[in-house]
Amino acid sequence: MVPTGTKPLTKIVIAGAGFAALETVLAVRAFAGDAVTLDLISDQDEFVFSPAATAELFVPVPRSRWPLTDLVQRAGANLILGAIDRIDPDQRRVHLTSGEVLAYDFFVIAIGGIHEPWLDAPGVTFTGPQEVPVLGQHLAQVIARAEAGDEVRLAFVVPPGGSWVIPVYELALLSKQFIDAHDVDGRVEVRVVTPEDAPLAVFGQQAGQMMTGVLADAGVELSSATIVREWRNGALCTVPEGEIAADVVVSMPVICGPFLPGVPHTAQGFVDADRDGRVRSHNRVFVAGDAGPFPIKQAGLACQQADRVAAIICAHLGISTIEIPRAPVLRGVVWSGAGEHFLRRDLAGGRDESHGTVSTSAALWWPPGKVAGRFLAPFLHEVEGHELVDMPTHNATSH
Ligand SMILES: Cc1cc2nc3c(=O)[nH]c(=O)nc-3n(C[C@H](O)[C@H](O)[C@H](O)COP(=O)(O)OP(=O)(O)OC[C@H]3O[C@@H](n4cnc5c(N)ncnc54)[C@H](O)[C@@H]3O)c2cc1C
Repeated sequence: MVPTGTKPLTKIVIAGAGFAALETVLAVRAFAGDAVTLDLISDQDEFVFSPAATAELFVPVPRSRWPLTDLVQRAGANLILGAIDRIDPDQRRVHLTSGEVLAYDFFVIAIGGIHEPWLDAPGVTFTGPQEVPVLGQHLAQVIARAEAGDEVRLAFVVPPGGSWVIPVYELALLSKQFIDAHDVDGRVEVRVVTPEDAPLAVFGQQAGQMMTGVLADAGVELSSATIVREWRNGALCTVPEGEIAADVVVSMPVICGPFLPGVPHTAQGFVDADRDGRVRSHNRVFVAGDAGPFPIKQAGLACQQADRVAAIICAHLGISTIEIPRAPVLRGVVWSGAGEHFLRRDLAGGRDESHGTVSTSAALWWPPGKVAGRFLAPFLHEVEGHELVDMPTHNATSH
């Protein structure tokens, strides 16, 4: 409640409840304190920590879904459950599918992307925790067939045009370890098929070399620089022209933009914005995370984009903030079943940076979480201790 006679507080409305949205809330609160009101609109009542989903089947990881009400309240925002239908930037209004209309001073779009299946093949498109049971069923069938004496080929596929890449390698490595713990006697081939020139190429040459070695040590086959066109008659048809036998296929989705009405978007439907996340032609509307136009989709990058958006909004309000670098830094952790591999690459470029940095013995940032959000990672540590962000050390076959 605003006391009579005082100026109403600036109202910042954020759409979404993922990494970008929560990081925006935390960053604005850190910079602006109580000088603003924050409303967060979410179409679901959970925060989904998708990066934990890859290990869920194999080790007793912490839950990958979190009740949102408590998190949002602790972060310092009001939660409004509902789905954004469209934005009217001229009137500074956002319309929900329920018919409700909300006014804002600044609006941040953080609703992520649309995750499209693209390959018609026996198996599963893995988009997060919701596919864990289906993956489990497929692996159980693969193991049963191999135990009965069949040769089975299991392929993990990165789509053409880019997707999340870390989960492909984690799923392949953890599945391989899981399968090998059964009486299959080498009758299951596990293979990664990727258009990347080297595994995790976006993280630099060192990551490629490291992951190539990890896959080889684990007995996972690799077909790099290989684009999958389709699956037909028990094989992946590829470019360059060829066929890779595959009985079960686990593919990552193609990520498209949300095609949100009321704001300009790219041909793929991502909200069109400048490097600071400012939506083109609308200087009070911002975008952060997978919904935006940055070509690499990643939770750590989503958090950095959110920090930058928060700092720019605060600058509009005359509130000083810490320096938020414009050029993003890629940080990722790969859970291989044989340890945690920290990857870091400064996307600002430079000759040495093309190599990136890799470490398996020591964390390259703190807290050493899967998702290196400046405010979100320590916040989650505080809320849940080390449970959410650190990989448990149990053997991958213990589940
Ligand atoms: C299995 C898997 C593993 C991954 N591993 C890693 C990893 O190791 N490291 C890493 O950095 N990234 C990883 N990623 C990628 C990462 O999860 C995404 O890049 C990240 O979730 C993007 O964050 P975001 O906030 O932009 O979108 P999201 O996390 O997708 O959040 C979008 C939010 O918006 C809400 N929403 C959508 N539409 C509407 C609407 N119309 N109205 C209101 N709310 C709406 C959604 O319910 C959701 O809460 C992984 C992804 C997967 C699937």
